Amino acid sequence: MISQQLLALQKSREHDFEILSDSIWETPETRYKEFKSSSAQKVFLRKEGFRLVEPIGGIETAFMAEKGSGKPVIAICGEFDALPGLSQKADDTEKHPITENSPGHGCGHNLLGTASLEAAVLAADLASCGTIRYFGCPAEEGGAGKAFMVRSGCFEGCDIALSWHPNSLSCLFNNSLANARIIYEFFGISSHAAASPQLGRSALDAAELMNVGCNFLREHIISEARLHYAFLDAGGPENIVQPYCKLIYAIRAPLITQVGEIMDRVNDVARGAALMTSTKVKISIASAYANLMHNDTLDDLMLENAKQLFPLQYTDEETEYARGFAKPGTVEPIETGLITAKKIPPAASTDFGDVSWIVPSSCMAINCYAKGTAMHSWQATSQGKSSIAHKGMHSAAAIIAGTALDVMSKPEIVGKARKDLETVLAGEKYRSLIPADVKPGSF
Ligand SMILES: [Zn+2]
Repeated sequence: MISQQLLALQKSREHDFEILSDSIWETPETRYKEFKSSSAQKVFLRKEGFRLVEPIGGIETAFMAEKGSGKPVIAICGEFDALPGLSQKADDTEKHPITENSPGHGCGHNLLGTASLEAAVLAADLASCGTIRYFGCPAEEGGAGKAFMVRSGCFEGCDIALSWHPNSLSCLFNNSLANARIIYEFFGISSHAAASPQLGRSALDAAELMNVGCNFLREHIISEARLHYAFLDAGGPENIVQPYCKLIYAIRAPLITQVGEIMDRVNDVARGAALMTSTKVKISIASAYANLMHNDTLDDLMLENAKQLFPLQYTDEETEYARGFAKPGTVEPIETGLITAKKIPPAASTDFGDVSWIVPSSCMAINCYAKGTAMHSWQATSQGKSSIAHKGMHSAAAIIAGTALDVMSKPEIVGKARKDLETVLAGEKYRSLIPADVKPGSF
């Protein structure tokens, strides 16, 4: 429950959290290099009397900050990594990067990390028993930081885990696509592309044939799956038969087992492309995310807490601000309501999925942007310091803190949530697709 005491405490501190979020927005750092962002959070938490354990999971920018003692142990996960190429001036409705080709917070992780930290601070201040553990989780974008943290046992001893993600609407975020990122490197033989092409073996041809093969494969995999790719190295100039080519594929599907099956077939396509071109291929799994496991008990609790705050109220200035980013002609440029459906379709992927397989978990999406704002866009970066974004951040913090305090005052909820997880797992065990010898950030 979001008590008046919680709201009053939050109100008295909200400016501190806004400064922290804005400072992380201003120093955007990409996966595994979030030194300033992680440090800003650690400084804040130390001042709040949290005990820090760092680094954790073999990741320099990962940490755990703990306050309180005994059971239950509530994990609250925060992120702070930015995305490459999404630098953008704040509040600008036209695309104007601060620095060309530089990172920006186009997924709102400055808000994500700060609201989770805010929830941890507020809940720890008001709890009469139990432990709050805030996890500073790096490299959600493409790096699967939490999957490595799970592998290292960082979440052992946690009874439940909570998190959230900024969005342009508000609902449970309890369904996500499992995902694997695989690097394909083709090795050929260089030669003069005009004088002696017969002596060359083109790695670029192999990569192109792989992509053609995957385009045909798409028809014969489940329709919910996604295959998308990018060239990381196209092999060099046009007058040389390219001896090297590097691609990354993201393979997504509702279940991690489905991702594993599709990955085996994509790997066969890559091997076939190498065979056709007399080149060689090296296949390396860079990262993988498990699908989110929903938890009825915790999802109900998060929704109950969220209902106390919704509909969110916006000022006329905020509505006008949002109009600048919404599609022209949009009557209501901000989503004020809460979608209360328990079952939502899977869309993106999150490495919080990995946590949800081993600790009963719940996660929400909370509105921080104008209606229709796409995540991973310069428009999202642009709005990341606005009062709408701050409002979403504080709302998420209050919902998570309220839920954490509910569990701390009624520890029997932990048993129910654990039972829910066992039901959803139906005997399946957590298994990451990341091979044991792959270290965090090695790709
Ligand atoms: Zn994100």
